[in-house]
Amino acid sequence: MDTPFPTWELPSVAVAGSAQRFPVRHIYCVGRNYAEHAKEMGGDAAKEPPFFFTKPADAVVPVVPPAVGRVHYPLASKNYQHEIELVVAIGKRGVDLPPESALEIVWGYAVGLDMTRRDLQIDLREKKRPWDVGKSFAEAAPIGPVHPVAAVGHPARGRIWLDVNGTTRQQGDLAELIWDVPHTLAFLSRYYELLPGDLVFTGTPAGVAALVPGDRLDGGIAGLGTLSIVIAEARA
Ligand code: MN
Repeated sequence: MDTPFPTWELPSVAVAGSAQRFPVRHIYCVGRNYAEHAKEMGGDAAKEPPFFFTKPADAVVPVVPPAVGRVHYPLASKNYQHEIELVVAIGKRGVDLPPESALEIVWGYAVGLDMTRRDLQIDLREKKRPWDVGKSFAEAAPIGPVHPVAAVGHPARGRIWLDVNGTTRQQGDLAELIWDVPHTLAFLSRYYELLPGDLVFTGTPAGVAALVPGDRLDGGIAGLGTLSIVIAEARA
């Protein structure tokens, strides 16, 4: 391909226990999918249909334990927050999936962080403007290795947690998801043709809070390993 400037590598994520990479096509995210987090964001726990937003594929920051990822404090924010999440990695095409068969398109699962410029998100939300810039930015999606379904099955329960500087900030259980993975994929596939390489961040438990440069984050999900990053100073 003849291009006017050098091209970049396809964004990708590690595959646990393998030299293979999981190539990333789209990143979809679910909002408010744990009742206690919905409350802390000013909503209620009523079971409304899930809502979705996206991040660019190149927002991924692949991290393989025991390595610790480096994520820069983002531009233009004074309230940069963590959201630890179960990430679903899609391996087959799917449109308008019934929940009963939606898991057939899942290739694997990973631990991810939906990093958020909360001040921008809330300001835009209050102005009824799109809040993309609160969620879609450089390095907004650190993610650990994808664990293939062949190795871990489809985790529906198990602890999900995040420690910041050694203190537990977020803690929950996958069983507390308002919309479980099959229903999330069923809803999402009404709006988008899900394709191999897509990632779906499934929402975060309560306890989101602001970060500063130098903070160390250690998170994990039972059966899916851990994800650790440090927050570096913003890029000049
Ligand atoms: Mn989130």
